[in-house]
Amino acid sequence: MALVELYRTTGNRADLELAGYLLSGVERERLKLSDSQVTYMFSGKPFTSRTEVEGHAVRAMYASSGATDYYLETGDPAYWKTLNRLWDDLTSSKMYITGGVGSRASGEAFGVSYELPNQQAYGESCAAIANLMFNWRMLMATAESRYADVMERALYNGINSGMSLDGTTYCYRNPLESTGEKIRNPWYETTCCPPNLERTFAALPGYMYAVNEKGIYANLYHASDMSWHLPGGEALQIVERTEYPWQGAIHFTVNPARTLETSVFLRIPGWSTGTTVLVNGKAWSAAPVAGHYLEIHRAWKTGDRIDLNLDMRTRLMTANPLLREDAGRVAVERGPIVYCLESADQPMLPSLFDAVLSGGEDFQMQYRADLLGGLMELRHTGVVSAKSAASEPLYRELGATSRATRPVTLTFIPYYAWANRGPLPMEVWVPYQRVER
Ligand SMILES: [Zn+2]
Repeated sequence: MALVELYRTTGNRADLELAGYLLSGVERERLKLSDSQVTYMFSGKPFTSRTEVEGHAVRAMYASSGATDYYLETGDPAYWKTLNRLWDDLTSSKMYITGGVGSRASGEAFGVSYELPNQQAYGESCAAIANLMFNWRMLMATAESRYADVMERALYNGINSGMSLDGTTYCYRNPLESTGEKIRNPWYETTCCPPNLERTFAALPGYMYAVNEKGIYANLYHASDMSWHLPGGEALQIVERTEYPWQGAIHFTVNPARTLETSVFLRIPGWSTGTTVLVNGKAWSAAPVAGHYLEIHRAWKTGDRIDLNLDMRTRLMTANPLLREDAGRVAVERGPIVYCLESADQPMLPSLFDAVLSGGEDFQMQYRADLLGGLMELRHTGVVSAKSAASEPLYRELGATSRATRPVTLTFIPYYAWANRGPLPMEVWVPYQRVER
């Protein structure tokens, strides 16, 4: 990444060639790398011979980011083929629902396909950040919304969980289930994650919009004022007002320096299946499609308005059946936010892990300004066994005992906000039963 950036700044072709030399893996011989080091370091064999993400998750994602930069400058189709293959492998079987990556503590590494344990999840903060960095570059190469969807997933969940709400303690690991271990600490012997989180949050404005010869792309949404210019030099300001991610209404005012014919591209997230878009109060002629950018091409005048309404219904998510650990469980999502159960919000539960979520997608929601920096809290019906599971035998014959249950209300908070009230039991994937009424 650094060498390609240096080439972009200096125009010195040798910098780009050195990046290509490192990606070619020829250093293996000089450095005498073993097979396991070639896997762990994601280096030492031709990048274009890679078929899957493996080894140290941060290294693999940084290497893929650098290789995407190299592709962007060279257009080498062999790199493009490999990058897509790695992205498919990553997103189809090796990424947590939080956008975190790296399943194993040993070697801080990717697991095999569908090896995504919850409690044992490694999910280093730096790896989720690296996932965002890789997807940002793939987005720059394609202008395809699916890459921005992964960026948003990682940002609001697996990255945002990495820093405490008061900004003083950090997660190195970001598990999706906990029995209450101390996960947030002020510092680490390996100090990568704290400064990596800080620089990522500081750099966020640079990820929100992008431009090319067709126009301007809104990738991530937040209340903001943007002043930039198109590649042709035309000055453009966009004012964005919204309560996103808590509300789906996003209002833009487009202010070009003078009347400007161009396109504004709005990212319609893959989860937003009921989106509406108004331009100056009238429905835009083309229908928004989830998972794609909506192009609004017209002559823009100062004060033109766009009203984007994203579909913020709460969704019950299931995992691929091959992800064995999540069988019979659901995760809760609303907008870009992944939710979790934390014991502090369930005073009626003897143990968090006795609870089962039941019923459909009928959540009650309430904005809680007083809770954990302000968040949308979700409530849902569930059941809990009348007798604590801890009092039951380790194994029993199915049907040998009927378990009496009682109804409970389960309260969900955003995953990123967990472990801000001390080390507490938490789970993202909640056991689920559909209740016949
Ligand atoms: Zn780190």
